[in-house]
Amino acid sequence: MTSISDYMGTSAVVNVKRAIEAAKQHDEFHALLALTEERALERATKIDETEVKGRLAGVPFIAKDNFLAFGAPTTAASHFLEKFNAPLQATAIEKLEVEGAICIGKANLDAFAHGGSTENSTFGPTLNAVDKERVAGGSSGGSAVVTALGIVPFALGTDTGGSIRQPASFNGVYGIKPTYGAVSRYGVVAMASSTDTIGCFATNASDAELVMDVMAGRDSHDATTLPDFFEIADVKPGQKIGVIKEFMTDDVDADVKKSVNNYIDKLKSTGHTVEEVSVPLLKYALAMYYIIVPAEISSNLARYDGVRYGKRAEAGSLSDLYGKSRDDGFVDENKRRIMIGSYVLSSGFFDAYYMQAQKARTLLINAFNELLESYDVLIGPVTPTPAFKLGEKASDPIKMYLSDMMTVAASLTGMPAISVPSGNTNSGLPVGVQLIGQRRSDAQLLALAKSLEESV
Ligand code: GLN
Repeated sequence: MTSISDYMGTSAVVNVKRAIEAAKQHDEFHALLALTEERALERATKIDETEVKGRLAGVPFIAKDNFLAFGAPTTAASHFLEKFNAPLQATAIEKLEVEGAICIGKANLDAFAHGGSTENSTFGPTLNAVDKERVAGGSSGGSAVVTALGIVPFALGTDTGGSIRQPASFNGVYGIKPTYGAVSRYGVVAMASSTDTIGCFATNASDAELVMDVMAGRDSHDATTLPDFFEIADVKPGQKIGVIKEFMTDDVDADVKKSVNNYIDKLKSTGHTVEEVSVPLLKYALAMYYIIVPAEISSNLARYDGVRYGKRAEAGSLSDLYGKSRDDGFVDENKRRIMIGSYVLSSGFFDAYYMQAQKARTLLINAFNELLESYDVLIGPVTPTPAFKLGEKASDPIKMYLSDMMTVAASLTGMPAISVPSGNTNSGLPVGVQLIGQRRSDAQLLALAKSLEESV
Protein backbone atom coordinates (compact mmCIF):
# COMPACT_ATOMS: atom_id res chain seq x y z
CA MET A 1 0.00 0.00 0.00
CA THR A 2 1.08 3.57 -0.55
CA SER A 3 0.31 6.84 1.17
CA ILE A 4 -0.06 10.37 -0.15
CA SER A 5 3.36 11.44 1.15
CA ASP A 6 4.99 8.85 -1.16
CA TYR A 7 3.87 10.98 -4.12
CA MET A 8 4.58 14.48 -2.84
CA GLY A 9 7.54 16.34 -4.25
CA THR A 10 7.96 13.85 -7.11
CA SER A 11 7.20 14.57 -10.76
CA ALA A 12 3.48 14.30 -11.46
CA VAL A 13 4.19 12.56 -14.76
CA VAL A 14 6.28 9.94 -12.97
CA ASN A 15 3.52 9.46 -10.38
CA VAL A 16 0.83 9.03 -13.01
CA LYS A 17 2.90 6.61 -15.08
CA ARG A 18 3.67 4.58 -11.97
CA ALA A 19 -0.02 4.38 -11.01
CA ILE A 20 -1.12 3.45 -14.52
CA GLU A 21 1.54 0.77 -14.72
CA ALA A 22 0.38 -0.64 -11.37
CA ALA A 23 -3.24 -0.59 -12.55
CA LYS A 24 -2.31 -2.57 -15.65
CA GLN A 25 -0.34 -5.09 -13.63
CA HIS A 26 -3.36 -5.77 -11.44
CA ASP A 27 -5.83 -6.14 -14.28
CA GLU A 28 -6.97 -9.58 -13.07
CA PHE A 29 -8.76 -8.00 -10.07
CA HIS A 30 -11.08 -6.14 -12.43
CA ALA A 31 -11.12 -3.17 -10.08
CA LEU A 32 -11.19 -0.62 -12.90
CA LEU A 33 -13.67 0.04 -15.66
CA ALA A 34 -11.51 2.59 -17.46
CA LEU A 35 -8.21 4.43 -17.27
CA THR A 36 -8.19 8.15 -18.01
CA GLU A 37 -4.58 7.92 -19.11
CA GLU A 38 -4.45 10.60 -21.77
CA ARG A 39 -6.09 13.31 -19.71
CA ALA A 40 -4.13 12.30 -16.60
CA LEU A 41 -0.80 12.65 -18.40
CA GLU A 42 -1.80 15.99 -19.86
CA ARG A 43 -2.70 17.30 -16.42
CA ALA A 44 0.48 15.85 -14.91
CA THR A 45 2.62 17.63 -17.49
CA LYS A 46 0.91 20.93 -16.70
CA ILE A 47 1.32 20.42 -12.94
CA ASP A 48 5.02 19.69 -13.36
CA GLU A 49 5.36 22.98 -15.20
CA THR A 50 3.55 25.14 -12.62
CA GLU A 51 5.33 26.85 -9.78
CA VAL A 52 2.58 27.03 -7.18
CA LYS A 53 1.66 23.53 -6.10
CA GLY A 54 -1.57 22.47 -4.43
CA ARG A 55 -1.95 20.32 -1.34
CA LEU A 56 -2.24 17.19 -3.50
CA ALA A 57 -0.01 18.25 -6.38
CA GLY A 58 0.67 15.32 -8.68
CA VAL A 59 -1.03 12.74 -6.45
CA PRO A 60 -2.93 10.14 -8.50
CA PHE A 61 -6.35 8.89 -7.41
CA ILE A 62 -9.21 6.81 -8.76
CA ALA A 63 -12.93 7.65 -8.64
CA LYS A 64 -15.82 5.21 -8.44
CA ASP A 65 -17.49 5.18 -11.83
CA ASN A 66 -20.59 6.99 -10.59
CA PHE A 67 -18.65 10.28 -10.33
CA LEU A 68 -18.93 12.46 -13.42
CA ALA A 69 -15.35 12.93 -14.54
CA PHE A 70 -13.64 13.78 -17.80
CA GLY A 71 -11.39 11.36 -19.65
CA ALA A 72 -13.67 8.29 -19.81
CA PRO A 73 -17.40 7.56 -19.85
CA THR A 74 -19.33 7.60 -16.54
CA THR A 75 -21.12 4.25 -16.65
CA ALA A 76 -22.31 3.62 -13.06
CA ALA A 77 -21.43 0.03 -14.13
CA SER A 78 -24.63 -0.09 -16.17
CA HIS A 79 -25.53 -0.67 -19.83
CA PHE A 80 -27.66 2.43 -19.58
CA LEU A 81 -24.71 4.77 -19.24
CA GLU A 82 -22.13 2.62 -20.98
CA LYS A 83 -21.32 5.35 -23.49
CA PHE A 84 -22.29 8.37 -21.39
CA ASN A 85 -19.64 11.08 -21.48
CA ALA A 86 -20.02 13.51 -18.63
CA PRO A 87 -20.76 17.10 -19.65
CA LEU A 88 -19.27 18.37 -16.37
CA GLN A 89 -17.23 17.07 -13.46
CA ALA A 90 -18.46 16.33 -9.95
CA THR A 91 -17.71 19.10 -7.44
CA ALA A 92 -15.61 16.63 -5.41
CA ILE A 93 -13.40 15.90 -8.43
CA GLU A 94 -13.13 19.59 -9.29
CA LYS A 95 -12.00 20.42 -5.75
CA LEU A 96 -9.36 17.70 -5.81
CA GLU A 97 -8.12 18.96 -9.17
CA VAL A 98 -7.78 22.49 -7.82
CA GLU A 99 -5.30 21.06 -5.29
CA GLY A 100 -3.41 19.25 -8.04
CA ALA A 101 -4.68 15.67 -7.60
CA ILE A 102 -4.98 13.64 -10.80
CA CYS A 103 -7.75 11.17 -11.56
CA ILE A 104 -6.22 8.23 -13.43
CA GLY A 105 -9.22 5.93 -13.73
CA LYS A 106 -12.77 4.91 -12.91
CA ALA A 107 -13.44 2.08 -10.48
CA ASN A 108 -15.93 -0.77 -10.72
CA LEU A 109 -19.11 -0.80 -8.60
CA ASP A 110 -22.46 -2.48 -8.27
CA ALA A 111 -24.64 -1.00 -11.02
CA PHE A 112 -25.99 2.37 -9.79
CA ALA A 113 -24.34 1.51 -6.43
CA HIS A 114 -27.05 -1.03 -5.57
CA GLY A 115 -25.36 -3.86 -3.75
CA GLY A 116 -22.76 -4.99 -1.28
CA SER A 117 -20.29 -7.07 -3.28
CA THR A 118 -19.68 -5.42 -6.70
CA GLU A 119 -21.18 -8.58 -8.21
CA ASN A 120 -24.06 -6.46 -9.53
CA SER A 121 -21.72 -4.68 -11.95
CA THR A 122 -22.87 -5.15 -15.55
CA PHE A 123 -19.22 -5.64 -16.43
CA GLY A 124 -18.40 -8.43 -13.96
CA PRO A 125 -17.25 -8.47 -10.33
CA THR A 126 -14.12 -7.08 -8.74
CA LEU A 127 -12.01 -9.59 -6.80
CA ASN A 128 -10.98 -9.06 -3.18
CA ALA A 129 -7.48 -7.60 -2.84
CA VAL A 130 -6.41 -10.27 -0.34
CA ASP A 131 -8.25 -13.38 -1.56
CA LYS A 132 -9.28 -13.61 -5.20
CA GLU A 133 -12.02 -16.14 -4.46
CA ARG A 134 -13.81 -13.59 -2.34
CA VAL A 135 -15.84 -10.48 -3.04
CA ALA A 136 -14.37 -7.00 -2.93
CA GLY A 137 -17.42 -5.81 -1.03
CA GLY A 138 -19.58 -3.09 -2.40
CA SER A 139 -20.86 -1.11 -3.83
CA SER A 140 -17.54 0.81 -4.01
CA GLY A 141 -15.57 -2.45 -4.35
CA GLY A 142 -13.25 -1.25 -7.10
CA SER A 143 -12.19 1.85 -5.16
CA ALA A 144 -11.36 -0.21 -2.06
CA VAL A 145 -9.32 -2.72 -4.04
CA VAL A 146 -7.25 -0.13 -5.95
CA THR A 147 -6.34 1.45 -2.61
CA ALA A 148 -5.52 -1.87 -0.96
CA LEU A 149 -3.37 -2.95 -3.92
CA GLY A 150 -1.36 0.27 -3.73
CA ILE A 151 -2.31 1.38 -7.25
CA VAL A 152 -3.21 4.81 -5.82
CA PRO A 153 -2.92 6.24 -2.29
CA PHE A 154 -6.61 7.15 -2.16
CA ALA A 155 -9.82 6.56 -4.06
CA LEU A 156 -13.29 8.05 -4.02
CA GLY A 157 -16.47 6.21 -3.21
CA THR A 158 -20.10 6.83 -2.35
CA ASP A 159 -21.78 5.46 0.75
CA THR A 160 -25.57 5.31 0.91
CA GLY A 161 -25.87 2.39 3.32
CA GLY A 162 -22.33 1.12 3.80
CA SER A 163 -20.75 1.18 0.36
CA ILE A 164 -17.50 2.73 1.53
CA ARG A 165 -17.25 1.22 5.01
CA GLN A 166 -17.98 -2.39 4.05
CA PRO A 167 -15.51 -2.75 1.16
CA ALA A 168 -12.91 -0.86 3.23
CA SER A 169 -13.21 -3.49 5.96
CA PHE A 170 -13.17 -6.37 3.43
CA ASN A 171 -9.89 -5.16 1.94
CA GLY A 172 -8.04 -3.78 4.97
CA VAL A 173 -8.09 -0.04 4.26
CA TYR A 174 -9.63 3.04 5.88
CA GLY A 175 -13.02 4.15 4.63
CA ILE A 176 -14.93 7.24 5.66
CA LYS A 177 -18.59 7.98 5.23
CA PRO A 178 -18.81 11.59 6.35
CA THR A 179 -21.67 13.46 7.97
CA TYR A 180 -24.54 13.78 5.51
CA GLY A 181 -23.98 17.01 3.57
CA ALA A 182 -20.24 17.28 4.28
CA VAL A 183 -19.28 16.84 0.62
CA SER A 184 -21.30 17.99 -2.37
CA ARG A 185 -23.21 15.30 -4.23
CA TYR A 186 -23.31 17.44 -7.35
CA GLY A 187 -22.16 15.47 -10.37
CA VAL A 188 -22.49 12.08 -8.70
CA VAL A 189 -25.09 9.61 -9.98
CA ALA A 190 -27.90 9.75 -7.40
CA MET A 191 -29.02 6.64 -5.55
CA ALA A 192 -30.97 7.68 -2.44
CA SER A 193 -30.74 11.42 -1.96
CA SER A 194 -31.38 11.47 1.79
CA THR A 195 -28.50 9.08 2.62
CA ASP A 196 -26.05 9.46 -0.31
CA THR A 197 -22.64 10.65 0.89
CA ILE A 198 -19.28 11.14 -0.80
CA GLY A 199 -16.20 9.84 0.95
CA CYS A 200 -12.87 8.18 0.40
CA PHE A 201 -10.63 5.18 0.92
CA ALA A 202 -7.10 5.69 2.18
CA THR A 203 -4.33 3.70 3.81
CA ASN A 204 -4.13 5.85 6.93
CA ALA A 205 -6.32 8.29 8.84
CA SER A 206 -4.23 11.40 8.05
CA ASP A 207 -4.60 10.87 4.32
CA ALA A 208 -8.36 10.40 4.68
CA GLU A 209 -8.50 13.62 6.70
CA LEU A 210 -6.60 15.58 4.05
CA VAL A 211 -8.74 14.31 1.18
CA MET A 212 -11.97 15.01 3.06
CA ASP A 213 -10.80 18.48 4.01
CA VAL A 214 -10.17 19.23 0.34
CA MET A 215 -13.55 17.89 -0.83
CA ALA A 216 -15.79 19.19 1.98
CA GLY A 217 -17.74 22.40 2.10
CA ARG A 218 -20.70 24.38 0.82
CA ASP A 219 -21.59 24.06 -2.83
CA SER A 220 -24.25 26.20 -4.44
CA HIS A 221 -25.16 23.21 -6.64
CA ASP A 222 -26.15 21.06 -3.64
CA ALA A 223 -28.45 22.73 -1.13
CA THR A 224 -27.81 20.02 1.47
CA THR A 225 -24.10 20.83 1.80
CA LEU A 226 -22.69 22.15 5.08
CA PRO A 227 -19.81 24.59 5.61
CA ASP A 228 -16.45 22.82 5.80
CA PHE A 229 -15.85 21.50 9.31
CA PHE A 230 -12.92 19.23 8.52
CA GLU A 231 -10.31 21.21 10.41
CA ILE A 232 -7.55 18.80 11.39
CA ALA A 233 -8.25 17.86 15.01
CA ASP A 234 -6.20 16.59 17.91
CA VAL A 235 -7.54 13.57 19.72
CA LYS A 236 -9.60 14.42 22.77
CA PRO A 237 -8.19 12.54 25.76
CA GLY A 238 -10.35 10.34 28.00
CA GLN A 239 -13.27 9.83 25.63
CA LYS A 240 -16.35 7.87 26.60
CA ILE A 241 -16.98 5.14 24.09
CA GLY A 242 -20.09 2.98 23.76
CA VAL A 243 -19.97 -0.54 22.32
CA ILE A 244 -23.22 -1.20 20.51
CA LYS A 245 -24.66 -4.34 22.10
CA GLU A 246 -26.95 -5.14 19.15
CA PHE A 247 -23.86 -5.43 16.92
CA MET A 248 -22.03 -7.93 19.13
CA THR A 249 -24.49 -10.83 19.15
CA ASP A 250 -23.85 -14.56 18.69
CA ASP A 251 -24.69 -14.24 14.99
CA VAL A 252 -21.58 -12.16 14.45
CA ASP A 253 -18.46 -13.99 13.31
CA ALA A 254 -16.10 -14.75 16.20
CA ASP A 255 -13.06 -13.29 14.41
CA VAL A 256 -14.97 -10.07 13.76
CA LYS A 257 -15.89 -9.75 17.43
CA LYS A 258 -12.33 -10.53 18.43
CA SER A 259 -10.97 -7.69 16.32
CA VAL A 260 -13.49 -5.26 17.81
CA ASN A 261 -12.52 -6.42 21.29
CA ASN A 262 -8.83 -5.94 20.46
CA TYR A 263 -9.57 -2.39 19.39
CA ILE A 264 -11.55 -1.83 22.59
CA ASP A 265 -8.50 -2.99 24.58
CA LYS A 266 -6.37 -0.43 22.74
CA LEU A 267 -8.91 2.28 23.51
CA LYS A 268 -8.88 1.37 27.19
CA SER A 269 -5.11 1.22 27.40
CA THR A 270 -4.86 4.70 25.90
CA GLY A 271 -7.07 6.21 28.59
CA HIS A 272 -10.57 6.01 27.12
CA THR A 273 -13.56 4.54 28.93
CA VAL A 274 -15.54 1.85 27.17
CA GLU A 275 -19.04 0.72 28.16
CA GLU A 276 -21.77 -1.34 26.57
CA VAL A 277 -24.72 0.62 25.18
CA SER A 278 -27.98 -0.54 23.67
CA VAL A 279 -30.19 0.85 20.90
CA PRO A 280 -33.15 -1.57 20.77
CA LEU A 281 -34.53 0.17 17.68
CA LEU A 282 -31.56 -1.05 15.68
CA LYS A 283 -33.37 -4.27 15.00
CA TYR A 284 -35.64 -2.30 12.65
CA ALA A 285 -32.89 -0.29 10.95
CA LEU A 286 -32.51 -2.64 8.01
CA ALA A 287 -36.27 -2.68 7.44
CA MET A 288 -36.36 1.14 7.48
CA TYR A 289 -33.46 1.31 5.07
CA TYR A 290 -34.89 -1.17 2.59
CA ILE A 291 -38.13 0.82 2.40
CA ILE A 292 -36.77 4.38 2.34
CA VAL A 293 -33.83 3.74 0.03
CA PRO A 294 -35.77 1.88 -2.71
CA ALA A 295 -38.45 4.60 -2.52
CA GLU A 296 -35.82 7.25 -3.26
CA ILE A 297 -34.19 5.02 -5.88
CA SER A 298 -37.47 4.58 -7.75
CA SER A 299 -37.79 8.33 -7.90
CA ASN A 300 -34.14 9.08 -8.80
CA LEU A 301 -33.91 6.39 -11.47
CA ALA A 302 -37.08 7.52 -13.24
CA ARG A 303 -34.87 9.86 -15.30
CA TYR A 304 -33.38 6.83 -17.11
CA ASP A 305 -36.15 6.45 -19.63
CA GLY A 306 -34.24 5.88 -22.85
CA VAL A 307 -34.91 9.45 -23.94
CA ARG A 308 -32.72 11.74 -21.91
CA TYR A 309 -29.54 9.89 -21.03
CA GLY A 310 -27.57 7.00 -22.36
CA LYS A 311 -28.97 4.00 -24.09
CA ARG A 312 -32.13 4.10 -26.19
CA ALA A 313 -33.73 0.83 -27.28
CA GLU A 314 -35.24 0.23 -30.70
CA ALA A 315 -38.99 0.41 -30.20
CA GLY A 316 -42.22 1.08 -32.04
CA SER A 317 -44.05 2.99 -29.30
CA LEU A 318 -43.19 5.26 -26.40
CA SER A 319 -44.07 2.74 -23.70
CA ASP A 320 -42.02 0.12 -25.53
CA LEU A 321 -39.15 2.57 -25.67
CA TYR A 322 -39.27 3.05 -21.89
CA GLY A 323 -39.73 -0.65 -21.20
CA LYS A 324 -37.04 -1.99 -23.49
CA SER A 325 -34.51 0.69 -22.60
CA ARG A 326 -34.98 -0.01 -18.90
CA ASP A 327 -34.99 -3.75 -19.35
CA ASP A 328 -31.64 -3.66 -21.07
CA GLY A 329 -30.15 -0.71 -19.15
CA PHE A 330 -30.75 -1.93 -15.60
CA VAL A 331 -29.53 -5.08 -13.83
CA ASP A 332 -31.95 -7.24 -11.79
CA GLU A 333 -31.10 -5.51 -8.51
CA ASN A 334 -31.92 -2.07 -10.00
CA LYS A 335 -35.27 -3.37 -11.21
CA ARG A 336 -36.03 -5.01 -7.87
CA ARG A 337 -35.44 -1.73 -6.04
CA ILE A 338 -37.46 0.32 -8.51
CA MET A 339 -40.36 -2.09 -8.04
CA ILE A 340 -40.12 -2.15 -4.23
CA GLY A 341 -39.81 1.63 -4.19
CA SER A 342 -42.80 2.18 -6.44
CA TYR A 343 -44.79 -0.23 -4.29
CA VAL A 344 -44.04 1.44 -0.95
CA LEU A 345 -44.81 4.84 -2.44
CA SER A 346 -48.07 3.79 -4.12
CA SER A 347 -51.20 5.38 -2.69
CA GLY A 348 -52.53 2.20 -1.06
CA PHE A 349 -49.29 1.37 0.77
CA PHE A 350 -47.64 4.73 1.38
CA ASP A 351 -48.95 5.09 4.95
CA ALA A 352 -48.30 1.49 5.87
CA TYR A 353 -44.69 1.34 4.65
CA TYR A 354 -43.03 4.60 3.65
CA MET A 355 -44.58 6.81 6.34
CA GLN A 356 -44.01 4.21 9.04
CA ALA A 357 -40.39 3.83 7.98
CA GLN A 358 -39.87 7.60 8.09
CA LYS A 359 -41.40 7.80 11.57
CA ALA A 360 -39.20 4.96 12.76
CA ARG A 361 -36.20 6.74 11.22
CA THR A 362 -36.94 9.81 13.34
CA LEU A 363 -37.03 7.63 16.45
CA LEU A 364 -33.68 6.11 15.47
CA ILE A 365 -32.18 9.58 14.97
CA ASN A 366 -33.48 10.60 18.40
CA ALA A 367 -32.06 7.46 20.02
CA PHE A 368 -28.61 8.07 18.50
CA ASN A 369 -28.69 11.76 19.41
CA GLU A 370 -29.52 10.91 22.98
CA LEU A 371 -26.75 8.33 23.21
CA LEU A 372 -24.22 10.71 21.70
CA GLU A 373 -24.98 13.24 24.42
CA SER A 374 -23.40 10.84 26.92
CA TYR A 375 -20.85 9.14 24.65
CA ASP A 376 -18.24 10.65 22.34
CA VAL A 377 -18.07 7.71 19.98
CA LEU A 378 -19.94 4.47 19.33
CA ILE A 379 -18.04 1.39 18.27
CA GLY A 380 -18.94 -1.94 16.68
CA PRO A 381 -18.11 -4.15 13.73
CA VAL A 382 -18.63 -2.92 10.17
CA THR A 383 -20.15 -6.17 8.96
CA PRO A 384 -21.20 -9.44 10.59
CA THR A 385 -18.56 -11.43 8.63
CA PRO A 386 -15.31 -10.86 6.77
CA ALA A 387 -15.41 -10.89 2.93
CA PHE A 388 -17.61 -13.74 1.71
CA LYS A 389 -17.00 -15.98 -1.30
CA LEU A 390 -17.90 -14.82 -4.81
CA GLY A 391 -21.35 -16.21 -5.61
CA GLU A 392 -22.15 -17.00 -1.97
CA LYS A 393 -24.91 -14.39 -1.63
CA ALA A 394 -25.39 -13.13 -5.16
CA SER A 395 -28.52 -15.17 -5.85
CA ASP A 396 -30.22 -14.34 -2.56
CA PRO A 397 -30.98 -10.62 -2.15
CA ILE A 398 -32.15 -10.99 1.45
CA LYS A 399 -28.86 -12.60 2.48
CA MET A 400 -27.03 -9.78 0.75
CA TYR A 401 -29.18 -7.13 2.47
CA LEU A 402 -28.53 -8.72 5.87
CA SER A 403 -24.83 -8.00 5.56
CA ASP A 404 -25.74 -4.27 5.69
CA MET A 405 -27.26 -4.51 9.16
CA MET A 406 -24.45 -2.63 10.90
CA THR A 407 -23.81 0.10 8.36
CA VAL A 408 -27.30 1.42 7.58
CA ALA A 409 -27.89 3.14 10.95
CA ALA A 410 -25.24 5.82 10.41
CA SER A 411 -26.68 6.39 6.93
CA LEU A 412 -30.25 6.78 8.17
CA THR A 413 -29.17 9.14 10.95
CA GLY A 414 -26.74 11.13 8.78
CA MET A 415 -23.92 10.54 11.23
CA PRO A 416 -20.27 10.15 10.26
CA ALA A 417 -18.86 6.64 10.45
CA ILE A 418 -15.46 5.29 9.60
CA SER A 419 -14.12 1.84 8.98
CA VAL A 420 -10.71 1.30 10.54
CA PRO A 421 -8.58 -1.78 9.77
CA SER A 422 -8.18 -3.82 12.94
CA GLY A 423 -6.27 -6.93 12.07
CA ASN A 424 -7.01 -10.16 10.26
CA THR A 425 -8.93 -13.36 10.83
CA ASN A 426 -6.98 -16.57 11.42
CA SER A 427 -7.15 -17.24 7.72
CA GLY A 428 -5.71 -13.82 6.92
CA LEU A 429 -8.83 -11.91 5.85
CA PRO A 430 -8.93 -8.25 6.86
CA VAL A 431 -11.46 -7.06 9.44
CA GLY A 432 -12.48 -3.51 10.25
CA VAL A 433 -14.10 -1.78 13.20
CA GLN A 434 -16.66 0.95 12.80
CA LEU A 435 -16.52 4.22 14.74
CA ILE A 436 -19.68 6.35 14.67
CA GLY A 437 -19.92 9.89 16.01
CA GLN A 438 -22.27 12.86 16.28
CA ARG A 439 -22.86 14.87 13.11
CA ARG A 440 -19.83 17.03 12.23
CA SER A 441 -17.52 15.03 14.50
CA ASP A 442 -15.79 13.47 11.47
CA ALA A 443 -12.40 14.99 12.20
CA GLN A 444 -12.62 13.79 15.81
CA LEU A 445 -13.30 10.23 14.66
CA LEU A 446 -10.29 10.36 12.36
CA ALA A 447 -8.15 11.87 15.12
CA LEU A 448 -9.09 9.00 17.43
CA ALA A 449 -8.27 6.45 14.72
CA LYS A 450 -4.98 8.21 14.05
CA SER A 451 -4.00 8.13 17.71
CA LEU A 452 -4.42 4.35 17.74
CA GLU A 453 -2.81 3.71 14.38
CA GLU A 454 0.57 2.86 15.83
CA SER A 455 -0.80 0.39 18.31
CA VAL A 456 -3.23 -1.55 16.06
N1 GLN B 1 -25.22 -2.47 0.34
C1 GLN B 1 -26.10 -1.35 0.51
C2 GLN B 1 -27.21 -1.42 -0.51
O1 GLN B 1 -27.20 -2.29 -1.28
C3 GLN B 1 -25.35 -0.07 0.42
C4 GLN B 1 -25.23 0.50 -0.94
C5 GLN B 1 -24.54 1.83 -0.96
O2 GLN B 1 -24.14 2.36 0.07
N2 GLN B 1 -24.46 2.40 -2.14
O3 GLN B 1 -28.07 -0.60 -0.51
